[in-house]
Amino acid sequence: MSQSCHDFDDEINFLSEISPNDLSWDQHRSNAEDVAVLYNRNIEFTKYADRINGCSGYLKFAVSDGKLVLKEVWFCRVRHCPVCQWRRSLKMRAMMYKNIDRVIQEYPAHRWVFLTLTVKNPHVKDLKSTLNLMNKGWKRLIESNRFENVVDGSIRTTEITRPKKKNEQMEVHPHFHAMLLVKSTYFNRDYIKQADWIEMWSKAMRLTYTPQVHVKAVKPNKKKTHEQNTGTLHSAILETFKYSVKPSDMLAYDDQGEWLCEVTKQTHRMRFLSTGGVLKDILSEDITNQEMIAPDSDKEQLEADEDKPRFRFTYVPQYRRYVFNPNLND
Ligand SMILES: [Zn+2]
Repeated sequence: MSQSCHDFDDEINFLSEISPNDLSWDQHRSNAEDVAVLYNRNIEFTKYADRINGCSGYLKFAVSDGKLVLKEVWFCRVRHCPVCQWRRSLKMRAMMYKNIDRVIQEYPAHRWVFLTLTVKNPHVKDLKSTLNLMNKGWKRLIESNRFENVVDGSIRTTEITRPKKKNEQMEVHPHFHAMLLVKSTYFNRDYIKQADWIEMWSKAMRLTYTPQVHVKAVKPNKKKTHEQNTGTLHSAILETFKYSVKPSDMLAYDDQGEWLCEVTKQTHRMRFLSTGGVLKDILSEDITNQEMIAPDSDKEQLEADEDKPRFRFTYVPQYRRYVFNPNLND
């Protein structure tokens, strides 16, 4: 990397070209810019726009074994900031990958069931009350005899998507993703059919209609390798720990940010993670800045390279990309 001003003027060094693995930074930061524009349309939310605009404006890396290692970023920590949501989900996934092997070793005969629980789409103004009802429904479900009998641990996240039809654009599709650790008897005497899951969820929610419930049980396939079997588990982790609200949904219609601002208001201070049974406290929603900088690293790795020089990349809105900025290196 050249350190002279002259080179910087003549030739632009993009982060994604120097380090293709960091391409996601451009994408998420560029989404954040669009989301800030939406927040800026509403006087009550301009404070979020200001914070998001300041989020991850530059990234400072150390070079270790020829690779860039992220060391310093300022995160705005606005709940629906695309960059902060992405970094939090990376950390959650990393914690899951790390803990899941321990759980499997501790409960070798147990199996996994993945549930998606939905309700009818409410209007966005009824999101908070709907989520409150769903949280109560979830509690009743996990305390039901049939559930308790076979499920030893659960992890549940909340996701809110936006319907695709234009006449439903002010509605929301709130749903739960759950990973359940079940006893081995699940696949014989304690099996719960999909129709039974629907009935259990409907009853717990006290619904008068039939809700949609997706169930996927993972029975290890003896013909498959250990890697292929854990692959299914890892893809369920990806599905469970992604954006709680996708930036593409926030930006889907030309609504001046109305949907996003209402979702923000309705979900204020609501918890989107619940863990129970033997998986209780396997994860936490309270993630530190350090963990968002290096989701896969432990404390020692974070403290390594402390004395190495830092290389600074600045987000340049004109390009919607991070650019190497040698004038500002430490
Ligand atoms: Zn942010």
